[in-house]
Amino acid sequence: MQIGKNILESELGQIPKVYAITVFDGDGIGPEIMTPTLDLLQRVASLFGSFSFEFKHVPAGAGHFRDTGEALPKTSIDAARAADAVLLSAMGLPSIRKPDGTEITPQIELRFELDLYAGVRPVRVYSGQSTPLADPRADQIDFVLIRESTEGLFAHMHEGQIHGDEEATETLRITRPVSEKLFDFAFRLAQQRAIKFDRTARVTCVDKANVFRAFWFFRSIFMERAKAFPEVEADTAYVDALAMWMVQKPWEFDVLVTENMFGDILSDLGAGIMGTLGLAPSADIGDDAAVFQPCHGSAPDIAGKGIANPLAMILSAAMMLEWLAVEHDDQDLAKAARIVDDAVGQNVVAQRHLTGDLGGTANTIECAASVIANIEKLVASSIGVSDKVV
Ligand code: NAD
Repeated sequence: MQIGKNILESELGQIPKVYAITVFDGDGIGPEIMTPTLDLLQRVASLFGSFSFEFKHVPAGAGHFRDTGEALPKTSIDAARAADAVLLSAMGLPSIRKPDGTEITPQIELRFELDLYAGVRPVRVYSGQSTPLADPRADQIDFVLIRESTEGLFAHMHEGQIHGDEEATETLRITRPVSEKLFDFAFRLAQQRAIKFDRTARVTCVDKANVFRAFWFFRSIFMERAKAFPEVEADTAYVDALAMWMVQKPWEFDVLVTENMFGDILSDLGAGIMGTLGLAPSADIGDDAAVFQPCHGSAPDIAGKGIANPLAMILSAAMMLEWLAVEHDDQDLAKAARIVDDAVGQNVVAQRHLTGDLGGTANTIECAASVIANIEKLVASSIGVSDKVV
């Protein structure tokens, strides 16, 4: 959905490709981390000269709901659908609730609207980075959790029933078409990672198939689809045991694929072993669209102080560059994605200009500015850019 060639010529004489990005600034710390991320993307674009971004800010979130009674306007959904990609910051505020007591969740509704079934959540510890895990193998942690994002326990999220004062029920839904697409996505991602790491690919289906028929169905489809990827090892694990192994031996995982609610919980556990939610990016990917957002929420406890960690938002933007690169066969975007990722890694490993959640004293702007300075050096020298990305 590239919107066409820019009429402006870059300094290099090239005509930059223009990518249309719909932006949801979000609530709480959302705008505080989005603004420096957009500045960073503009700087990357100006350094490369061969692409540029056109950002369209659209309303949604708790603040918008408070002011208008609407959390996710149809015009914003339409803008998301029309864009080349969507950047979304955290949404929701615990103080703003609907009459039934639940919060507004436009970030979840957008996944349903755009059929973004694959929630990709990388869990990685940079070599040399300090982590809460004492084991020396902790800096080998590099796995991807794929959270199904359009069904599971979230499928009927507005239809739960409270019967009198005595009982409440929710319904979990697993379907064959979505599960097949989800598992194929996981196997293909594992194949790409096997090339990157020069090793055998492995996908683990995480479920509760010992107790629930719906999860046996989920696992059965997984084993069926595994036959189409004979070079990929396919194994299974119960979610409770896997939660323990995420602490005991997370360096052994490659690609994990799971139901929506399990993925929601396990991805925060993944952020915990990275040391902070402020380092946890994500991509919600469908057949025709993708939304990139940090795993964390709007962090009302630190909102307005200018101290939020912008790195999860910046890493989400790097995932966007990588996805756009593949969609549009744009090698410069792929290179830019690697550079942004490497630039974040340099800050984290050197413990330079980090925010308080990572033990530093920098504020949001100082942290982002340091990453931009790293990017400028990396672009100038092209040193430190790895050859392959996931
Ligand atoms: P949260 O992720 O906002 O915060 C959990 C803890 O992590 C807090 O101590 C917070 O200060 C810290 N934290 C999170 N992001 C950080 C960052 N970038 N830098 C430094 N510290 C960071 O989770 P919560 O408090 O449970 O939820 C707050 C609100 O966010 C709620 O309204 C919730 O519904 C919403 N939420 C939204 C999303 C989303 O938009 N994807 C995800 C989760 C929660």
